Amino acid sequence: MDINKEEGISKTQDDFTSHQLERGLEDYLECERLLTIFFVGVNYCIPECLSQKVGKYRERMDMPGDPTQFPGNMGCCPYDEFKHSNYESIADRTLLERRRIEKYGEPDDNSAVCGYHAKDGCILKDHKSPICLAYVCPEFADFVHERYGIRYCKDKIEENLELILSNRQSPEEVQRFKDLIQEFTDKIHT
Ligand code: SF4
Ligand code: SF4
Repeated sequence: MDINKEEGISKTQDDFTSHQLERGLEDYLECERLLTIFFVGVNYCIPECLSQKVGKYRERMDMPGDPTQFPGNMGCCPYDEFKHSNYESIADRTLLERRRIEKYGEPDDNSAVCGYHAKDGCILKDHKSPICLAYVCPEFADFVHERYGIRYCKDKIEENLELILSNRQSPEEVQRFKDLIQEFTDKIHT
């Protein structure tokens, strides 16, 4: 982590103006758009997991008991994971959450899985939390590495998304991150 980034993290979100937070969200949504293009291009989750009777999650956990309990269409979303973060100290996600609720409404509190999960997967087409946006299962990560030589590090992606969302990265760092995601997408099309 460079010095500028350390200084950035020592600032609280209250130190940022609403213009800076809007700018962070704008960059974040652009990164989300690029990541979504990448995931659609890889086309792994629907055929290999969401459309299957038994999903990758259940397979990996080698779960005993009722096989309908964790069906493929649950994907990796058995809980309200969008509420969490592996980098709680970095970002205040209030603005993102407010915009998500304005657009998609409150999550379904009575759902047996994540409250934003529907039969065909996540209903959020954008405004996902960094943890949801960055997450891929080990099977997905192995697949893109073996097939395309892409090293997708979900933790690093999530950290960058948190930093971008909270406007703690320079324009050059944001651009480097966007270029990285674009490189991933280029690799699957060559
Ligand atoms: S990331 Fe893995 S567990 Fe999640 S939906 Fe895709 S294949 Fe399924
Ligand atoms: S918000 Fe979407 S991606 Fe995140 S846990 Fe819920 S259904 Fe899954």
